[in-house]
Amino acid sequence: MQLIDGKTIAATVKSEIANEVKKMIDADQNPPHLAAILVGNDPASETYIASKERACKEVGFTSSVYRMSENTSEEELLKTIEFLSNDEDVNGYIIQLPLPKHIDTNAIIAAMDPKKDVDCFHPENVGRMAMDMPCFLPATPAGIMMLLERSNIETEGKNCVVVGRSNIVGTPISILLSRNSKKANCTVTLCHSRTKNLKEVCASADILVAAIGKPEFITADMVKEGAVVIDVGIHRMEDNSEKGYKIVGDVKFDEAAPKCSFITPVPGGVGPTTIVSLLSNTLKARKNQLNF
Ligand code: NDP
Repeated sequence: MQLIDGKTIAATVKSEIANEVKKMIDADQNPPHLAAILVGNDPASETYIASKERACKEVGFTSSVYRMSENTSEEELLKTIEFLSNDEDVNGYIIQLPLPKHIDTNAIIAAMDPKKDVDCFHPENVGRMAMDMPCFLPATPAGIMMLLERSNIETEGKNCVVVGRSNIVGTPISILLSRNSKKANCTVTLCHSRTKNLKEVCASADILVAAIGKPEFITADMVKEGAVVIDVGIHRMEDNSEKGYKIVGDVKFDEAAPKCSFITPVPGGVGPTTIVSLLSNTLKARKNQLNF
């Protein structure tokens, strides 16, 4: 069994991005600027935004965070989006989800400028991705593709099972893995809560992507001997350690790992490459703006 080291892969890509930023600065250009809108103060969202800010700093990007209260109206949020869309100094922005229940998430996403939508949430970008046209790739799925490619994992002709069909993870990764490309070309089965015989379907996978949002849901009997397992889940589980908790994924790692040829750890697998993909998209947005 080999661990897919997301941290090391992310560090390599970050240094590649930092080199590109340096070239921009040497050419008297401003570095890329990534902005984030955070509505409310959900602790998981706060943590994610803090990691994004740290990552921006590491590669030399400018970053900014627009914090809005939990009671912000949809109208106020739309105004902030309009402001960021028109601000030439901002190359990409993200809206941290989930939004409070009184806000229509789809209306908010539709109001974004697709050219600055570095999370690939806007319908135009999702459509372009589905049609294999030039576009930003959604951060977590792009991070998964990065892990497979940089770990030299063969995908062509493999049976891939994705569990979870969300718009941000399951559905887009199933599209990317089934693309007509040497780095994809999988035969993909997309599973969800209504899938019958889930255990058998998972156990047939050469590549199993778990994006369910349920701690340690995938057990060893759902994993084929020699499979590649990509665990997208992140959960904080209370325990008796000094910290009082541990982070686990959607896969029961200890029992599944011995059966795998490759597996991502949690933490240190998909998480780090998700953030790096966001940086990559922001760099691309800045280069598009500059024709660099
Ligand atoms: P969602 O809750 O949006 O989607 C979960 C999916 O899992 C749904 O499609 C649901 O099916 C399916 N599902 C739920 N229960 C079952 C079941 N018993 N059997 C089969 N399928 C089931 O989650 P996300 O895609 O947003 O996130 C998934 C996980 O990944 C979470 O733990 C999240 O925290 C993590 N995550 C990690 C990221 C990273 O960077 N590492 C980034 C984004 C998310 P149905 O559609 O039928 O309801």
